[in-house]
Amino acid sequence: MSVPSHTSSYYAASANDKSLRPALKGDVRADICVIGAGFTGMSTALHLAENGFKVVVLEATRIGFGASGRNGGQIVHSYSRDIDFIEKHYGKNTGTEMGKMAFEGGKIIRRLVADYNINCDLKDGGIFAACNSKQLRELEEKKTLWEAHGHQHLELLSADDTQNYIGTDRYSGALMDHSGGHFHPLNLVLGEAAALESLGGVIYEDSVVTRVEEGSPVKIHTASGCVTADYTVVAGNAYLGGLIPQLESKAMPCGTQVITTEPLSEAQQKALLPKDNCVEDCNYLLDYYRLSGDGRLIYGGGVTYGAREPGKIESLIVPKMLKTFPELQGVKVDYAWTGNFLLTLMRLPQFGRIGSNIYYAQGYSGHGVTSSHLAGKVLSDAIQGQAERYDIFAGLPQYPFPGGRALRIPYTAMGAWYYNLRDKLGI
Ligand SMILES: Cc1cc2nc3c(=O)[nH]c(=O)nc-3n(C[C@H](O)[C@H](O)[C@H](O)COP(=O)(O)OP(=O)(O)OC[C@H]3O[C@@H](n4cnc5c(N)ncnc54)[C@H](O)[C@@H]3O)c2cc1C
Repeated sequence: MSVPSHTSSYYAASANDKSLRPALKGDVRADICVIGAGFTGMSTALHLAENGFKVVVLEATRIGFGASGRNGGQIVHSYSRDIDFIEKHYGKNTGTEMGKMAFEGGKIIRRLVADYNINCDLKDGGIFAACNSKQLRELEEKKTLWEAHGHQHLELLSADDTQNYIGTDRYSGALMDHSGGHFHPLNLVLGEAAALESLGGVIYEDSVVTRVEEGSPVKIHTASGCVTADYTVVAGNAYLGGLIPQLESKAMPCGTQVITTEPLSEAQQKALLPKDNCVEDCNYLLDYYRLSGDGRLIYGGGVTYGAREPGKIESLIVPKMLKTFPELQGVKVDYAWTGNFLLTLMRLPQFGRIGSNIYYAQGYSGHGVTSSHLAGKVLSDAIQGQAERYDIFAGLPQYPFPGGRALRIPYTAMGAWYYNLRDKLGI
């Protein structure tokens, strides 16, 4: 029988815990059954277990198999659409309430890392880099906006100042978020899993949920067992497939690719990122990069459909990396992988409930490290009867992709092409 495995990423190769939890066998009773062991699932499970609930997590493959174990590892605040967009489209109250939550996900991550002593190379400082003067003006507006919503850790950097943080003259300036930062994402989610288990939670790996039988209690079936629970939380995001038909048409899985170089010398590391911060640029199809705990450059970018083979990924991402850091010409790439995030039409997360006891949160649209941790807290509170914050998210409209399932990919590919053109023209 084959053992399920992670994608062949740098993170999987350097995971702190490689042990495999057993698959679900037979019948199990729980207060809450969480489907999917990524950040959404683990944050929900952990917040519930901290409040004394009996939680079971069913993971199709391995803990962190999805985006949570493969991402850029960057703590980026707010949402894929910022608070001003939310306020304009959904009203002042929604904007204000979502603004209050926009910086909480990063605090949840830092709290979990500190409380459970999670070893995940957490470092402070995230930079948004402007590729042109228009983007720099937008960063100035972002600073004003975030400060109006109580975020106080921001610093605008001129083009010259930016070069003290990033060893390239590519950027017109930048916004440093001192409360941003970066970490080893697979080791974070594995640390969260261990924390959950220390509180009595149980995680089954290699346990694909095949059917959710609505009712009270709800029954969650796998090929070899069933969990009966008062509530279930669907946290499969871009990897959920068609398990819950109501969710499938609401969002679109998109692939983004990442490479990791061989370990760089101290001098190279200092030349690229002298203060060891993470960077994302402001293009719609953005580049994102940072150093790993052992001094490699982790570089991701773009949104490409179907690029899966390491050779193809390398040929897509290496030119982007060399545009930022030409001195890396000839540096060996040790790992290349792809991962799926879930895009929604409005680029805002989708929280909701099916019937009275099946909750879901998904669709952070590429901006999910902090939002997924926030989602876990908000869903956990809602299950415990405090639904005010959940209601704000659940009140956002959730539109299907136009054209239904067959046309979702072509439409979004066209959108990506259009935004790529805009990025190139700087408009
Ligand atoms: C390459 C990449 C880079 C990214 N970089 C960043 C970044 O730097 N910063 C940022 O903010 N965001 C980033 N993101 C987005 C972020 O990683 C995601 O939004 C977030 O991790 C989503 O977490 P999740 O738990 O909702 O989903 P996932 O982590 O995808 O977890 C879903 C889990 O559910 C499981 N599952 C699915 N179906 C079933 C089933 N039927 N039965 C049981 N289990 C099931 C899957 O196996 C998977 O483990 C990136 C995404 C990618 C792909």
